[in-house]
Amino acid sequence: MRIGVVGCAGRMGRTLLREVLAAEDLELAGGVEAPGHAAVGRDLGELAGMARLGLQVGTDVAALARAADVLVEFTLPEPTLEHLRLATQAGTPMVIGTTGFDAAQRSELEALARAIPVVWAPNMSQGVNLLLALVETVARTLGVDFDIEILEMHHRHKVDAPSGTALALGEAAARGRGVALDQVRVDARSGHTGPRPEGAIGFAVLRGGDVVGEHVVVFAGEGERLELGHRATDRRIFARGALRAARWVAGRSPGLYGMRQVLGL
Ligand code: NAD
Repeated sequence: MRIGVVGCAGRMGRTLLREVLAAEDLELAGGVEAPGHAAVGRDLGELAGMARLGLQVGTDVAALARAADVLVEFTLPEPTLEHLRLATQAGTPMVIGTTGFDAAQRSELEALARAIPVVWAPNMSQGVNLLLALVETVARTLGVDFDIEILEMHHRHKVDAPSGTALALGEAAARGRGVALDQVRVDARSGHTGPRPEGAIGFAVLRGGDVVGEHVVVFAGEGERLELGHRATDRRIFARGALRAARWVAGRSPGLYGMRQVLGL
């Protein structure tokens, strides 16, 4: 299976290159970066910190979509949607790990995924996907006298907040309670906030250092507190999850899938 890596010089992009090159059943179809990026023209093997491959970082996503069996992308929302459109034209399935889509961008993603099979997940790790299922069950079991607060911390370079994973955890908790997250979401608190509204799902965001990704969901009741959490210490878990999704998505019917389906949860 030939994998095309979009955003190949990014933190996730380089990790993906290494994992593709190390996998016996995968071949690197190529890697692309934003036009003008310093990595364009560099050898993809060297970029991954491995031996030279004789294959350079390009900028032509349409050509990469034609050359690859699956495109894997971790970049930014706007370019991701642009590239998804190119993937539909080439009929190439796609695995998307990009986060930070707004509501309009998310509907565009869903519409484009009617033409080709797409896996999109804000977090590709096995542990977090299990956590999502656990949070939904606990929220359903405990009810509104347990206040739900979601805490996340990531490295200082992350550009969107709360993290896609924190929002997915919020959605799982809201689903468990039978409400829509938008109606109960509280993002940041400062100054005179008044008392906590019943049923609110609160988010707290920390940024700093090289933290790969930490999430804790707190269920705070009277006299007891239940906490469910996940710590990622290595980006490889996301890359491996994405490649597992790539192996799974090839040959599926068109549509938008999540890691729940890929992992069979
Ligand atoms: P990063 O900034 O290190 O890398 C993003 C790369 O995309 C950069 O190299 C950038 O130049 C490139 N890019 C931007 N526009 C492009 C374009 N038009 N064409 C080609 N490449 C382009 O960021 P990162 O830490 O690798 O994270 C990327 C995204 O993945 C973020 O949204 C992040 O939240 C998400 N992420 C998801 C998971 C998951 O499991 N789903 C895990 C980690 C990160």
